[in-house]
Amino acid sequence: MLLLGWCGMVCAQQPAPPLQVAPGVWFLVGDSSKGYSNTTVIEMQQYLIVVDANYPGRARELLQLIPQLSPKPVRYVLDTHAHGDHTYGNSLWTRAGATTVAYAAMLSEMQRYEPGRWQAAEARREDVRTLGEDDVQRPGLVFHGRRMVLQDATRRVEFRYLGWGHTPADAYVWLPQQRILCTGDAAVNGPRNKLWDSNLRNWPRVLQRAIALHPRVVLPGHGASGGVEILCGQRQFLLDLYAAVQQALRRGEEPVAANIVLPERDRNWVPTDLTQDIGIVAAEIRAGRPAGALPHTWR
Ligand SMILES: [Zn+2]
Repeated sequence: MLLLGWCGMVCAQQPAPPLQVAPGVWFLVGDSSKGYSNTTVIEMQQYLIVVDANYPGRARELLQLIPQLSPKPVRYVLDTHAHGDHTYGNSLWTRAGATTVAYAAMLSEMQRYEPGRWQAAEARREDVRTLGEDDVQRPGLVFHGRRMVLQDATRRVEFRYLGWGHTPADAYVWLPQQRILCTGDAAVNGPRNKLWDSNLRNWPRVLQRAIALHPRVVLPGHGASGGVEILCGQRQFLLDLYAAVQQALRRGEEPVAANIVLPERDRNWVPTDLTQDIGIVAAEIRAGRPAGALPHTWR
């Protein structure tokens, strides 16, 4: 059935309306059936900040939607990590006048994996293909060290590096006055983890640093918004998965889905098929090095 969406357009499925989580801060949930990630829009005195460039298809939608939230121009797009659902729309934002920003490790991540992942995405995604570009556009600005701060008379926004968890280039967007934290995919709400590029032993420690910020609102890269329970639940799932695989290995068993049973508390994060996640954790434990540092291909 065709429905009239919030934006007044006829849509096959009614999209969730932008959620205003604080004055001048909106959370927009991406359509997971299209692989889109979530987006946060932050209003400053003269301009807007967008968290995550998203895939090109969603970037095009956002460029239409955002002027309905605020007439100010998008000056910065903060990419929380290098994965395509967060960065492949970069060139559309810069063409619209914005500067894309990331933690410095994004450059080495892209150097390592691109344009291989871009080409794989082109093969399966029309929105990437129709851009007519042969590689992801690199961020226009990177920060080194622990943080980059954007501040004016109305608001302070910190783009923070807390350590290698989900990927070496993870960065969090922290609004200290409103206590709002955008996590990218370092914390997701639901069975949506991608472990390929991670440091599984370190990831829970990084999440502990995020928890120590005492956020009031947590805006994850995928799934619904919430509070600190998203960070705690994500952290517990990772700890339990790691421990279960480690115990199986210590017993001399091959860690497979049939003998890895996670506690009920992890239910929100456990995918239907844990096979690949178990394999990645086992590879990290066996190698004694972060899974993301081992040779691997995007699956
Ligand atoms: Zn993502």
